[in-house]
Amino acid sequence: NFLSAVVPPGEIGVKFEDIGALEDVKTALNELVILPMRRPELFSRGNLLRPCKGILLFGPPGTGKTLLAKALATEAGANFISITGSTLTSKWFGDAEKLTKALFSFASKLAPVIIFVDEVDSLLGARGGSFEHEATRRMRNEFMAAWDGLRTKDSQRILILGATNRPFDLDDAVIRRLPRRIYVDLPDAENRMKILKIFLVQENLETDFRFDELANVTEGYSGSDLKNLCIAAAYRPVQELLEEEKKQECRSDAAPVLRPLNLDDFVRS
Ligand code: ATP
Repeated sequence: NFLSAVVPPGEIGVKFEDIGALEDVKTALNELVILPMRRPELFSRGNLLRPCKGILLFGPPGTGKTLLAKALATEAGANFISITGSTLTSKWFGDAEKLTKALFSFASKLAPVIIFVDEVDSLLGARGGSFEHEATRRMRNEFMAAWDGLRTKDSQRILILGATNRPFDLDDAVIRRLPRRIYVDLPDAENRMKILKIFLVQENLETDFRFDELANVTEGYSGSDLKNLCIAAAYRPVQELLEEEKKQECRSDAAPVLRPLNLDDFVRS
C-alpha cells in the first residue's frame, strides 16, 4: 500500500536533466513547486505568492508526465508517493475513506511531499451517476475534503500533482482544485532530437549519425515511442550477430563485436 510506497528524494533516480525537451514545463514547475518547497521563506509574505495545492499535467500518452513528476520530487527535495484509483479503492485495502484520511495525515508527517495521482480521471473523474460504487463516491468526497483541509503551512509542503490523458473527463470540482494546468505536448522535430540524444548517448552509433534525419522521420512520436524505437533498433545488430553465429554453427568465446547502429536500423524498426 502507499505507506510502503514512499520514495525519498535521493532514491527516485530521475532528474530534470534526464528529461529531453519540455523546457517550458520544467521552468513552470520550478517556479510553482521547486522554489516554494526549497525556499518557503520567500513565499510566506503577502497574498500574491501563495503556494498552490494542486497542479494538473495533461497531454497525450507517453509524453513524460510520470517522468516529470518523479524528477520534480528529486529537484524539490520532496518525498514521492504515487497513487492511482486502485491504491485507494482496491478491496484488499479495506475502507477507502479511512485510507484516504490516512494518506493525508501520513503526508503531513512526510512533508515536503508530492502525491502523484496518475490517471487522476479514474480516481477523481466525473461522477459516475447511479452506477458509481458507493465506496468510490465516499472516497472521492473524503479526498476532496482532506485536500481542502490542508493547512496553509502544510499546503506549502504537500502538493497534489495529477496527470491525465483525458482532461475532459475530470469534473469541475477537481478542475477547480487543480488551478495550475500544464500541457505536456508531443515533441516537435528539434525536441525529438534532444530526446533521442538522451536515449542514444551511450550507444555505439555510426560516425556522422544523422540525428536530424531521425528526428524528421519520427513526426508524431511521443518520448515513449522514441524510446521503444531506439530499443528495437539497438536489437538489430544483436539479431544479425546471432543469425551469423547460427549460419556458421559456432560461437566464438571472444567478446562479441556488434556493428554500430545506423539510421536504417531505426527506419526499418
Ligand atoms: P501515460 O500518460 O501513458 O501514463 P506519461 O506521459 O506519464 O504516459 P511516461 O510514463 O513519463 O509518460 O513516459 C514513458 C517513458 O517514455 C518514460 O519512462 C521515458 O523512458 C520515456 N520518455 C517520455 N518522454 C520523455 C522525455 N521527454 N525525455 C526522456 N524520456 C522520455
